[in-house]
Amino acid sequence: MIKMKNKTAQILNQLRMLFFQHMQNRKGELHDATFLETFLLDTKELLEMEEVTFFKFDEWKQQFYKEASTGSLHDYIMEAPVQEYIQLLWREQVGDGDGMVRMQAGALDIHVVIPLWDNGKVIGVTAFKEREASALSSLTLEEGSIFANEFTIILKTALSISKISDDERRYKQLFKVTEKFHSSMSRDAVLGEIIATLHTVYPTFEYFLLLSHDHDGHENLPIKELEYDSDNVAALQAYVSGNMEFEDQPSENQSILYAPLKGKQGVYGVLQVIAPKTLTFPKQEIEFISLLANTAGSALENAQLYQQSKRLVADLQLINEISRHLNSNLRLDETMEYMKRQIITSFHAEQVGFLTLDLDDAGAILSGSSDFFDSEGAGLYVSFLIDRLGSEKESLFIGDLRVHRPEAEIRYRSLMAVPMMKGDEVKGFAVILHTEAYFFSFEMFKLLQSLIHHSSMAMANSILREELEKMVITDHLTQLYSRGFLDEKMSRSLEKDEGGAFIMIDIDNFKRINDTYGHQVGDEILIQVANLLQHNIRDHDIGARWGGEELAIYLPCESLETGIRIAERLKDKVRDISNPGVTISAGVSHWGKGRPDSVKEIVKRADEALYSAKNSGKDRVHVHGVLL
Ligand code: GH3
Ligand code: MG
Ligand code: MG
Repeated sequence: MIKMKNKTAQILNQLRMLFFQHMQNRKGELHDATFLETFLLDTKELLEMEEVTFFKFDEWKQQFYKEASTGSLHDYIMEAPVQEYIQLLWREQVGDGDGMVRMQAGALDIHVVIPLWDNGKVIGVTAFKEREASALSSLTLEEGSIFANEFTIILKTALSISKISDDERRYKQLFKVTEKFHSSMSRDAVLGEIIATLHTVYPTFEYFLLLSHDHDGHENLPIKELEYDSDNVAALQAYVSGNMEFEDQPSENQSILYAPLKGKQGVYGVLQVIAPKTLTFPKQEIEFISLLANTAGSALENAQLYQQSKRLVADLQLINEISRHLNSNLRLDETMEYMKRQIITSFHAEQVGFLTLDLDDAGAILSGSSDFFDSEGAGLYVSFLIDRLGSEKESLFIGDLRVHRPEAEIRYRSLMAVPMMKGDEVKGFAVILHTEAYFFSFEMFKLLQSLIHHSSMAMANSILREELEKMVITDHLTQLYSRGFLDEKMSRSLEKDEGGAFIMIDIDNFKRINDTYGHQVGDEILIQVANLLQHNIRDHDIGARWGGEELAIYLPCESLETGIRIAERLKDKVRDISNPGVTISAGVSHWGKGRPDSVKEIVKRADEALYSAKNSGKDRVHVHGVLL
């Protein structure tokens, strides 16, 4: 008896010795699978066994799986009868650390098993296939139990070493990916890195990234929209609570984990990990995935903040650029045209409108607006705006106008409108439209607000200047009438007279005069020409400064011939008398009752004639359509 006990002790001592020797040989470099295998090999030799195999109990699959073996004893899974038999035995046996069990079924390959207990549960089994006479077969029940206990202790140590090196490998992976995360400012790169890491660590799992409001296409990433419907309760819960959620799907034979991608300021999405062929999600993997998800969450946050700051800088640059442009004293229509172009480029807007909110004419369309706003179709949008903005005077951000006007036929579904203020007073609104619903983002809305806010003053100033200019009847420099006054007189003449002639005059090569003699002299010449003009027309004719070095004459009730004669006479006088000498070119147009016409058209015709006079050598008078 004692002798036999000594024999057991001897075997165990030898086993320990081999184990530590083995550890020493590795010099800290532990390669999990082979480490366990070598230990089993030592055991086999020592106990004179045919084969020794360690099976691990897989909690998710509720089965024993081969973890390491000295031979190719079995397939991956333990033979079913052995599984059942062992499970039955454990269920009947009680207590922690129950020892060695001899298998009864003779036909099986396994003769002896030693269970590995952990907290009252069997977490693995070492299975022995005996030779005719092995060291184990000669042990008594008591000795077997002692041997089993000691063997278990050594095995546990071996396993924990395996686990440590396994963890080490994973955390190295995590460390590597963290480094990559922090060197990347692109969201897609971060997302791609998460997936790549998971593929390396868990090749049999499936993964998806659930993101809300994901507008860009990422062809290579398994991204799914995080939808707010009942199908996805666990995912949504993870997103909202910021905690991990689990969903076991026995019918699908899979178990799912939802890990929130959490940063300091919020949750940026949910990582969905699907473990196939399992009942419950493997607990030992949760911590790693949680760490990975958290790291990814902060990386996503960084990337997002970086993109955000980049966008803010771009926004500021745009606002700055526009402010600078607007403050360079453009005319109102140039200002508005410029604004329209900028808005179309920056917001990809399809229609841009600038409306004033005059009480008398409810919502006048300002110049610079897209042509659409002059069309009948715009009425719907304008009335909606006046309805909403007239009372609230706040910006409007409409994702889908159809929701607000279900009865109307809405072509442009996305709408943003921002008031143009001067001081505390609302002067008008800028509105932009797009056919696609929810086309504009909230960031774009914010940008439009700052843009309009920053340019309102310049626009209001332009409007004011234009209004002031209209009010002034005479031009300060030339003492001729102002353009606004001429405009008004012509309009009235068109209503009450039978006809009239219009002359558009431009000083030739005036830039050169300025360059040669200076601006002062340029001004004096302008005055000389204006005086000559004034002396060549009668009291009820209107001589005006059109702008710059362009002058105009309107001759109410006069014929085209008279217009030409006066223009010719003036042209000759300027050439003969002006000092320093300059010449002028002129274009003449005419209107007569019975032919539909407008001030705009009359001016345009004279302008074209002037253009043709300039093109054929200057110092001459042309008539629209007829070459003189
Ligand atoms: P063109 O024969 O084609 O008309 O040549 P241009 O040089 O007269 O025409 P352009 O339009 O290139 O230049 C007009 C110049 O007139 C440029 C501008 O500085 C000058 N000008 C416009 N208004 C005034 C003014 O009130 N005073 C002075 N001194 N110069 C003016
Ligand atoms: Mg000119
Ligand atoms: Mg000129």
